[in-house]
Formats: sequence, C-alpha cells, structure tokens
Amino acid sequence: MADKLSARVRRVLVKTLYTQPISLAIGALNGSIATAVAAYLSGMPELWIGNVILTIIALARVAAAIGLSPDDNKTSTSALELIYEVGAFSYALVIGAVAAVTVWLGASAEVQVLMIANALCYGVAVAARNAGRPSIAIGQLTLVCLPIMITSLAMGTLAHLTLFATMLLLVPAMAAITLNIFKVLRDSISAAETSARLAEKMKLLARTDVVTGLANRAGLNHAIVETMMEVEDDEKLALIWIDLDRFKEVNDLLGHPIGDRVLGEVARRLNGVCPAGSTVSRFGGDEFVIFAPIEDRRAAELLASEIHFEIMRPFRIEADRLEVRASLGVALFPEDGTDTDSLMQCADLALYHAKVGGRSQTQFFDRSMTRDLVRRREIENELRAALQRDELSIFFQPIVDLESGRIRSFEALVRWFHPEKGELVPDEFIPVAEETGVIVTLGNWITAQAARVASTWPDDVTLSVNLSPLQIRAPGAALGIRNALREAGLDPSRLELEVTETLFVEDNHATANFIQELSAIGVKFALDDFGTGYSSLGYINNFPFNKIKVDRSFVSGANVGRKSDAIIRAVAEMGSTLEMEIVAEGLETIEQVHAVREAGCTLGQGFYFSRAVPDYLAAMLLAQERSADRRKMGT
Ligand code: C2E
Ligand code: CA
Ligand code: CA
Repeated sequence: MADKLSARVRRVLVKTLYTQPISLAIGALNGSIATAVAAYLSGMPELWIGNVILTIIALARVAAAIGLSPDDNKTSTSALELIYEVGAFSYALVIGAVAAVTVWLGASAEVQVLMIANALCYGVAVAARNAGRPSIAIGQLTLVCLPIMITSLAMGTLAHLTLFATMLLLVPAMAAITLNIFKVLRDSISAAETSARLAEKMKLLARTDVVTGLANRAGLNHAIVETMMEVEDDEKLALIWIDLDRFKEVNDLLGHPIGDRVLGEVARRLNGVCPAGSTVSRFGGDEFVIFAPIEDRRAAELLASEIHFEIMRPFRIEADRLEVRASLGVALFPEDGTDTDSLMQCADLALYHAKVGGRSQTQFFDRSMTRDLVRRREIENELRAALQRDELSIFFQPIVDLESGRIRSFEALVRWFHPEKGELVPDEFIPVAEETGVIVTLGNWITAQAARVASTWPDDVTLSVNLSPLQIRAPGAALGIRNALREAGLDPSRLELEVTETLFVEDNHATANFIQELSAIGVKFALDDFGTGYSSLGYINNFPFNKIKVDRSFVSGANVGRKSDAIIRAVAEMGSTLEMEIVAEGLETIEQVHAVREAGCTLGQGFYFSRAVPDYLAAMLLAQERSADRRKMGT
C-alpha cells in the first residue's frame, strides 16, 4: 500500500518535470543566445562549438518534453525520469563548461561575466524548478558549478578563489532550499492522493450494501447511468425486480442473523446466474434488482426462470433447511423505458402484478398495467367516500333447491354505482379494498346491511355473505358479525358465511378462533369457489362447513366437459356422505340445471334462476313463491 502510494506520488512528482515545456524552451533559448553573443564578442571557436552542442541538446529536450506526455501511462516513470536526467545533466555540464572555458582562456571581462551569470542563473533556477526530483535539481546545480569551481581554483587569484568559495557555499545552500521545496511538494501531493483515495473508497462504500456486498440503490443507479451512456443502438437490457415471498416470516421465525445469511446466499446465487456485465443489487429488505444485458425478450424470460430456479433451491443454514420463493417484475430497455426512472417504475409495476397475481411468478411489464394502476388509484381514493355517499348497495341472488325449485337462501353481492364510471363489479374494487384495509369497514357494513334485509324474509330463508380472508383476520372480526346480527335482529342460524380456500393457505389462529366463535352461536360456513384453488380435502375435514359451492367454471366455463362432470359427481357424493349441501354456481341454462341435479348437487345458483337483484325485487321473488304456494294449497 505504502509502496503503491509512493509510486503514484513519484509519478506526480516526475510529472512536474514535464509540465510547462515552454519554460524549458525559454531557458534553452536564453542559453543559446547568451553563448552565441559571447562567441560573437570573443571570437572564440570553443564558444561556437559550445553553442552548437547546447542548442542540439536543448532542441532534443524540448522535443522530448512535448513528445512524452506523462499523462498517458505508456512510458514508465523510471524511463521518463532517465530521459529527463540525461538531457538535464548533459545540458548543465555543457553550460558550466562553457563558462569555465571563458575563465580558463581569459576571455574579456564582459564575456566572462555573461557566461558565469548565465551558468549560475541557470543552476539556481533549475534547483527550484526541478525540486520535484531533488537528485536531478542538485545534480544539475553541481554539474553547472563544478567546471567553474575547478577552473577558479586552478586560476588561484583572490577574485577567483572568492568566486570558488561563494559557489562552494551556494551549492549546499541551494540544495537545502531544493530539499525543502521537495518536502512540501511531496507532502501535499501525498495528502491529496490520500484524500482522493479515501473519497474513492467512501464513494464505493456508499454504493455497497453491507449485508450482501452487492450494489445498493445508489450503486445500481450509478451502474444504470453508466451503462445507458455507452449503450449501442441495437443493445437490449433488462431490469429485473425481485421480491422474496414472505421473507418476513423467515426473519420473524429464525431471527435476523439467519435472515441475513439467506440474503447473502441469495446474492451469491443471483451473481452466479446473471450474464457478464450485469449489476446485481439489493434494495434493502428482501428486494433485489438486477440490471443485465440481454439478447432479446426470450433471453430475459430464460434468465427469469433461471433466477426462480436458483432461489427455489433449498437453503441449508446450520441445521435448518429453508425454502424461499420470489416474485419477479421485468422491464426491458428500450421498449418499456429509456431512462432509469421509467424503467424502475415499469419493473416495480410488473412486480406488483406478479405479487397480486399469486406470487412466485414473473410478470413482464405491459402498457395495460399503467392503465390498471391509474384505475386502481382512482378506486382506492374514492372507495371510502363511496360508503358515506351511499353509492354502494347490496344485491341478492337466490340459491334454489334443485329438488323443489324453492328459494332456500340469497347470496348478498355488493354493487357500486359510481356517478361517473357507472356500475363497478366487485372483482374490481374488492381486491383494492383488501389491499387498503377498507375491506374491514366495508365488510361490516355489508353484513349489517344484508342482515337487516334478511330479517324481513320468512324464517326459513337464509342469507349468505362473502367474507374476505383479510376481514376475518382483522381484530374484532367475529364481534363485528355478532353486532350486525344483533342490530338487525337476525337469528345467527340464518346467516351463512362464504369463505374461500385462500383463507386456510396460511395457517392462522385468528381464522380458527373466528370460525369456532361464530359456529358456537349457530352461524354456518360455506366453502366458496371450490375447485379453483388447492382443493385440499383437509379443510373440509377440519372446519365445520355446511355447504360446498362448486365454482362456476365447472358448470358454465369454457372447459366444461366429462372431466368437470366427474368432479362435480365426486364432490356431490362426498357431500351426501358428510351431510353437506353441494351448490352448483353459474347455472345459465336448463340443460346445466338438469346436469348438475343429475350429478347430485342439491342447490343451484345462476342467471337461469335469477341475477342478483335489489332487496325489493328479492322480496317480490319470495312473495311470488309464497302466493304460488297458497294457490297450490287452495286447489
Ligand atoms: P362469488 O362469491 O363466486 O359470487 C358469485 C358471482 O357469480 C357473482 O358475481 C354473481 O353475480 C356471479 N354469477 C351468478 N350467477 C351467474 C351465472 O349464471 N353466470 C355467470 N357468468 N356469473 C354468475 P359478482 O357479484 O360480480 O361477484 C364477484 C365476486 O366478488 C364474488 O364471487 C365474491 O368473491 C366477490 N364479492 C361479491 N360481493 C362481495 C362482498 O360483499 N364481500 C366480499 N368479501 N366479496 C364479495
Ligand atoms: Ca360467494
Ligand atoms: Ca363462488
């Protein structure tokens, strides 16, 4: 480290020798003119010879100074120094020798003064100018002075001896000054070097994530900006945003040190799978972002699946075996965005879709996602107000006994009549309500509202209400339902709550308590959308379901056929053994009604019987049924 530093400092110092070749040229010109004038005045051929030699050396040195740029690193520091040394020493020696010759051959006083002054001025000036390399500076001064001093000593007159003594003092005095300048120069250069290196190191640290050693957000930004500046026309890049699914649980269950080690291992795997020239970064938490050069979209898809594969490989940390999954959002340069911000936004949005789409998957950015987002934001902003403004209402869809054709219950389905957007379907705003937490307020409102309506129906007609998993897990969820029942004066046994399997995917105490507490007072439960999720029979065994609702995709979907028929049959058979009712959803035609009844379903629901209707129409349907009953009894 110290050696390297001093090498860098040395190069900077040697550089000072080569700076300002103009000063070198002026000095050289000075020497040539002065010796030419002296030669002319004295007519001494020795001085003409000296003049020619000096001019040749001077020209060579100026040419070398211009030709060798110490800024490019082609020539080594030692070579630069040596080239300078040869020129400087020979020039100094010749200039000193020329002055000595004028003394020795007894030139006129003015010629001697001119040459000695020329030599000494040069020597002194150079001792300061070349202080960056003191050996050169002091060597030059010595070489200038030596011939004059020897000659003076040989002449032996008082004046000559005095000159000798003066120069004898001059050399060490100048040498001390040179060394002083050198020290100041060296120290300030190495201080500047050190702070430059520190700044470099700090910059690097500021761009690094300490946990994984990957780039952090700043590092990634830097890499993206650098790459974008040099990107070729036909080059493609992918920005892949990775979010580990449910990583918080790893941290909570196993502790942060283990969590950090998993992150470190994920980082290592990601580094291993990404192509050369990629930047892998971590954005705090459990988010990683990769910026990678790719051939085309296909290559990006391949890379994404390799990333899934790498992350899903089980981790072994100490005695634990861990499995991690991830969601990926991908944006491509240039088609999705040509600057950092828009690429990041696109990848983030794609990741969001991957997460709501069920996690552990990859989504590529698509223009429609932006439209979706805008609409979602609007819905999010307006949903709370909609409740207060009475824009929401509950519709009721009858669930019919397939044997008798009578209405056994109504399912409450929420509707939003937006003053500008028109009717909004629950599939559009319920997920937003879940995400924003509004579902708790909304859900309680729906139950209370529906229970009030149901309390006006005949006692044998029940009410079904859909509950979202988030609503159930919220604190005080069971109390909300009980309050709604009490206020409406509806018997708990006339309420049935429809839940989906997603509720049981995460094993949760709150869920079990909720179901237990409400079952205890007589509330019933139905398993909704059966066949669309995991369809594990485990839940059916563990929870007191009263009904199973076979999803409408088995009845009126595109893939209805012998297979779905067999599934309905199997479910219906299980239902009759376990004394559960099986509801076929989405019945639109009489043929479908016959088919599901024949397969063993006991209840049916669908447009064939009725769409979801407002409360007064539901009451009318019931009234019609009752008057038909009366007519039958009358005849
Ligand atoms: P779901 O619980 O499966 O509700 C049945 C959906 O199927 C309803 O759509 C209903 O209108 C529709 N449907 C009924 N018969 C037919 C038919 O013959 N053919 C076809 N193609 N569709 C039929 P809707 O009202 O749009 O509700 C969609 C989903 O939104 C519901 O699915 C439910 O999961 C959710 N949802 C509705 N209301 C609420 C609510 O109050 N709370 C909660 N948490 N979720 C609700
Ligand atoms: Ca339902
Ligand atoms: Ca359903």
